Parts: sequence; C-alpha cells; structure tokens
Amino acid sequence: MKIYISVDIEGVCGTTTWNEVTRGNVEYLEFQQQMTREVIAACEGAFEAGATEIVIKDAHDTACNIIADDLPENTSLIRGWSRHPYMMMQELDSSFDAALMLGYHSLAGGGGNPLAHTMSSSRISTLDINNMPASEFLINYYTAMLEKVPVLFISGDREICDHAAEIAPGISTVSVKTGVGASTVNIHPKSALRMIKSAVFEVLSGSLSGHLEDLPEWFNITIDYANNQDAYKASFYPGAELISPRRVGFESDNYLDVLRLFLFTL
Ligand SMILES: [Zn+2]
Repeated sequence: MKIYISVDIEGVCGTTTWNEVTRGNVEYLEFQQQMTREVIAACEGAFEAGATEIVIKDAHDTACNIIADDLPENTSLIRGWSRHPYMMMQELDSSFDAALMLGYHSLAGGGGNPLAHTMSSSRISTLDINNMPASEFLINYYTAMLEKVPVLFISGDREICDHAAEIAPGISTVSVKTGVGASTVNIHPKSALRMIKSAVFEVLSGSLSGHLEDLPEWFNITIDYANNQDAYKASFYPGAELISPRRVGFESDNYLDVLRLFLFTL
C-alpha cells in the first residue's frame, strides 16, 4: 500500500501567529517539531495498517520544514518547490492507494484560524471554484481526483475539517484546534499525535475504495486579489479576463488548465 502525505503547518496543533510558522524566528522551532511529530504519527498509523511506502510532501512556505532525520525509514520527503502545477501534491500519481493531508487550515476569508488563507496569504482575498469558496484542501482534493487517488484523512483546524467533510464524504478528520479571533483553542499536542495515529490507522485499515468521486465537468474560477495591480497582471494569463479591478475570471473543462492558472497567478 503506497501512501501520499501533503503537509502544511498553519493547521498543526498550537500554531497561532505568523512568526511561529516562519523559518528564522525562534518561535518557529517548537512548531517545526510539532509539524514533524504529526507526520511521524500519521506514518506510524499508516505502517501499522499495512503501508509499504510513504511519500511526504513538505508543503509550507519554503517547503523545507519537516525534520527529515526524525522520520521513520521507508519514507521519502519532497522538500522545496519543483514548480509543477500540482504544487502541494507534487509527485502524486495514480500509483498511490490513498492521500492524507496534515496541518491543513481554514480558507481565505474564513474565520476558523488566525492564519486562514488560500495559497498566498498576502495577495489573495478569496478564491472561488464553481461559486464555492475554495480552500487549499479543495484545490488539492481535485488534484488527487485527477489522479484517481482517494483523499482519506485530514488534520487541521475545526473549520477546515468541517469543510473537508462536506466536500469529501467519508473522509476521516482530526481537529486539533479552533480559531477564535486572533487566538486558537488547542487540544494537547500529544493528544493530537495519538488521535492522528489512530485515525490514520483506522481509515487505512478499512476499504480504500468507494471514496472516489468524479471531477466536475466544468470549472468556473474567480480570484479576488488584495490589490488591483495583481489582478491586472493575472488578467493577461491566456483565457483569463478582468471582471472588475480586483477580480479575475477563468473557465475550463480541464482541471490541469485550472492548476496551470493557479501556478502562474496565485
Ligand atoms: Zn502553510
């Protein structure tokens, strides 16, 4: 059983401020460790359930956060950004049996995490796919569907877990915190590890089939930028149009084209 894990940090237990999730700050070290421990917990659950190979994508900021030496063997770690349109799901292909998402966070415009955003925290106000506010979870969930890989687990803040459960029926979720204004109310970091390990074990011990849905046949994208200069530039992407000074629209029946748009305009 071959497992793919995409890992962010804003939904890791405890993270509350940008300093805590940005390399170079003393506060970051504690949460880099917790991020790594949550990955280890998921790997342990997956191996106990019969996983034979695990590929981990470090998918936050520089993508050089997870402490490789602490990871179990029989895992491989993707660090940095290749600039492939799969972005946070780089190297995912149809050879994987399941994908898991760890440390995921509330979407742009959401109130469920003080660090809520979608792809770019400074440039993007909101991003809609088919008139539905889109999270990084949704973007990457559709990428997994493109490769026919079921997404079976997510951990992160309460809001992203609820959002994922609405989109992906049957997904296993572990909520490690709830955002309240600029604060977070967290479970104990060790409880997060225990819950992630047991939920991953349970979901991967069950049937992996029956979780795959069909991709939408048509994608209608609107991106609202924080400033009009970014929208103006993005409107020159082939097929994109400027709807209003800060809003760009794009339509396609091909999700890879949507991911290409995101790669160049988010
Ligand atoms: Zn992040």
